[in-house]
Amino acid sequence: MFTVENHRLQTEQLFRGLDQDHQGSVDKQTILYRLQRAGIDHTHQLFTELFDQLTQLPEHARIDCALFAQLTEHHLKPLAKCLQGELIIPDFHSFCREIETIYHHTAQLQSGHIANYIPELAKADPTKFAVSLCTVDGQQFSIGDTNSGFCVQSICKPFIYNTALEQLGETKVHQHIGREPSGQAFNELTLNKKGLPHNPMINAGAIMAASLISADKGNADRLADMIGLWQRASGNLSGIGFSNATHVSELDPADRNYALGYFMRENQAFPPNTNLTQTLEFYFQCCSIELTTQALACSAATLANAGICPLTGQCVFAADTVKNCLSLMYSCGMYDFSGEWAFTIGLPAKSGVSGAIMVVIPDLLGLTIWSPPLDTLGNSVKGIHFCQQLLQTYAFHNYDSVLKYGDKRDPRRQQHGWQFNITLTLLDAASRGDLDEVLRLAAIGVDLSSADYDGRTALHLAAAEGHLPLVCYLIKQIDDIAPLDRWGNTPLDDAQRGRHSSIITLLSGSD
Ligand code: GLN
Repeated sequence: MFTVENHRLQTEQLFRGLDQDHQGSVDKQTILYRLQRAGIDHTHQLFTELFDQLTQLPEHARIDCALFAQLTEHHLKPLAKCLQGELIIPDFHSFCREIETIYHHTAQLQSGHIANYIPELAKADPTKFAVSLCTVDGQQFSIGDTNSGFCVQSICKPFIYNTALEQLGETKVHQHIGREPSGQAFNELTLNKKGLPHNPMINAGAIMAASLISADKGNADRLADMIGLWQRASGNLSGIGFSNATHVSELDPADRNYALGYFMRENQAFPPNTNLTQTLEFYFQCCSIELTTQALACSAATLANAGICPLTGQCVFAADTVKNCLSLMYSCGMYDFSGEWAFTIGLPAKSGVSGAIMVVIPDLLGLTIWSPPLDTLGNSVKGIHFCQQLLQTYAFHNYDSVLKYGDKRDPRRQQHGWQFNITLTLLDAASRGDLDEVLRLAAIGVDLSSADYDGRTALHLAAAEGHLPLVCYLIKQIDDIAPLDRWGNTPLDDAQRGRHSSIITLLSGSD
């Protein structure tokens, strides 16, 4: 009974929020517009039915509260989250405008060369440029050539590794593959001191991981499984395909990958009975899987969301698989630029020679940039530039959290984390008259006029408790010496209540 009543009240509240002119009904476009601004579309499974129902209504249909209740009956919670700013990026619209600005800025770059060692890749259009992102709540945004497909190339490596981990477990997989950056090119003819590939994010390691998975199956089935995995990770977005042309083209200049295979075989790095030719072919097939930036961004979001696809809610990878994968993407995912990337960008990512970069911001979003011209290390020039710009604006670096008072922005929904705690620390110091602690907080950039839920500030508390030196200090530091708390009281009111005459004099400005 209570739940039903609650549901009704919440429906009415949501409806009132939409019906801002108090007309008793809203246009269906109002609802669609609000969803669109939040980054939610019909590909989000929790909203697909609602979108279908809305689409079936006539163009200018008005929706009253009863119809709204009917339409939202099964979607109230996610809809409420979306309309009340409770998604992981509440102001998604503004965030996307920033992404657009960075996109247009980056689009002006002209440098880089398309990879031509695989003939099919050499045909890529250098002017193509697309960016897509998907949050862990399934908010999506894309800009640029987002309908063009491209091959994942090296970005298949995290997925091959994850599959190996899930089939054989971490111990067995790492009996065959190391976990150190190689410090060399992705296809360098080199192994670690144990005669194993350095890590699963470079060619040797991915070929090894490919040899480990579904060894009992033929390549047709292994490829079908891999495409299925990409489909699930990308939330079944259309556009996951396979480029036969690229696959055939990969076989042509494959000497280096064969050389890596034979080198590993010579070092007895493979499990017994590994069919090398079949393994290499499967690896080339995985590189030739084709998708769009939107599908790749959603796959990255699945990694950001601990293995659960944000669009479908389906568990694609176990959380510990994702943790291992992100750790290696962080240290080894950007070829011989990995150390610099970890230092300046500080995020797990994987690059491919088709010009795509898949970036994961754990617990926030997956991001993909695709632009074929590459720098000398094999990373997309625009991809790297875009990320550098993004990281100048937003506190997304893994260790930006230590710069709590830096000037980078953070679009995440505030969880009342440190900001809330720091206000409480300030208020506590103020009520104790601890000037040293307040000076320390000021030195690290804490806003001395910040207030708690009740609107109480440091000045209110210092005045109420009669801490004259602290009041003297605070009034020199803050602009407003008469802030109102939730009961309408100023610090002067508090001082009068406590009969602290010197403070009353100071705050009332009289002698
Ligand atoms: N198919 C490519 C190769 O094996 C993948 C390399 C890459 O994207 N870095 O050479």
